[in-house]
Amino acid sequence: MEKIKVAVLGATGSVGQKFIQLLEGHPFFELVELGASERSAGKTYKDAVNWFMETPIPDSVKNLKIKNCRPPFESKIIFSGLDSSVAGEIETEFAHAGYIVVSNSKNHRMDKDVPLIIPEVNPEHLQLIKAQNYNGGAIVTNPNCSTIGMVLALKPLHDRFGISKVNVVTMQALSGAGYPGVSALDLTDNVVPFISGEDEKLEKEPLKILGSFSGDEIKEAEIKISAQTNRVPVIDGHTESVQVELKKKATEKEIIKAWEEFSAEPQELNLPFAPEKPIHYFREEKYPQPRLHRNIDKGMAVSVGRLRPCNIFDYKFTVLSHNTIRGAAGGAILAAELLVKKGFLQ
Ligand code: NAP
Repeated sequence: MEKIKVAVLGATGSVGQKFIQLLEGHPFFELVELGASERSAGKTYKDAVNWFMETPIPDSVKNLKIKNCRPPFESKIIFSGLDSSVAGEIETEFAHAGYIVVSNSKNHRMDKDVPLIIPEVNPEHLQLIKAQNYNGGAIVTNPNCSTIGMVLALKPLHDRFGISKVNVVTMQALSGAGYPGVSALDLTDNVVPFISGEDEKLEKEPLKILGSFSGDEIKEAEIKISAQTNRVPVIDGHTESVQVELKKKATEKEIIKAWEEFSAEPQELNLPFAPEKPIHYFREEKYPQPRLHRNIDKGMAVSVGRLRPCNIFDYKFTVLSHNTIRGAAGGAILAAELLVKKGFLQ
């Protein structure tokens, strides 16, 4: 198949750099354009970026000139890793100009006609874009990075047993705060018990993602969620301590079976970024840990462990997922692969 031309907006940031790293050699997509702020526009990528990925800048990208984030672009798909202060308006402009925007920013996530997609959880919500009024363009969003890990772990339990309540406490990595992010003096030898807007996202987004799709709108799931989010001195990988109350009683064995058997459309379609197994359950009592397990299955799998009974809810467990891969760029690329495979680009 001829490769589809794609662009990355916010190309110099934490998520933008991950997009560039992950798109190198992609079988469906060819990265041909980059966008960032006026501070970077006009410069070659290598001169504008403070590259902090562990692999070198791909040769095909080094000398690309950064553009202003305004259409026209030659790409069909626009991946957005833009700062949320500007993402809303720019993404709307690209969609109106006929582009398919796959965004990581919060701005459009809760719009009624915009799918908030985790490809293994709610691929049917992509149908929502047919109701969008963007002259053939569309906006699809990736949920918040902590939401993605938690909802992937909740999905098999929601399907088999039903979920009525969730309590979650997160330990979120530094790269989630963007680049240069939180200052070293704020986070060395420290934990910051506040991430602006994050508790609210974790409490609201899962209801839309796990909601049912009636053909033209989403009816939110009826789950009560309470979230507390913390920034910790880990580079990549968000860890979450989750407690759940189930609608139907289940044994530990049944819950682990639900996680281990979980597989969905991206696996059936054999999409390039689909992890072989979306959920890895660890029986070792000290796992999962961010440094050891964030990169499992290309950084696209979610690690779960420490399942045990809870004195207040039914069960508690730990979830770990890579925030800039599964939680941002990798998740957005998987959503775009699904759009292509399901014919949404025609
Ligand atoms: P970041 O490192 O701060 O990068 C922000 C990007 O936006 C940079 O490329 C920056 O370009 C660009 N930008 C800033 N102002 C702009 C303007 N006026 N016009 C055009 N471009 C502008 O942030 P990030 O962590 O990559 O996050 C990007 C988005 O993804 C945010 O909305 C964030 O909430 C979301 N997200 C992040 C993560 C994560 O783990 N980091 C996970 C999920 C979602 P310059 O370099 O030219 O300023």
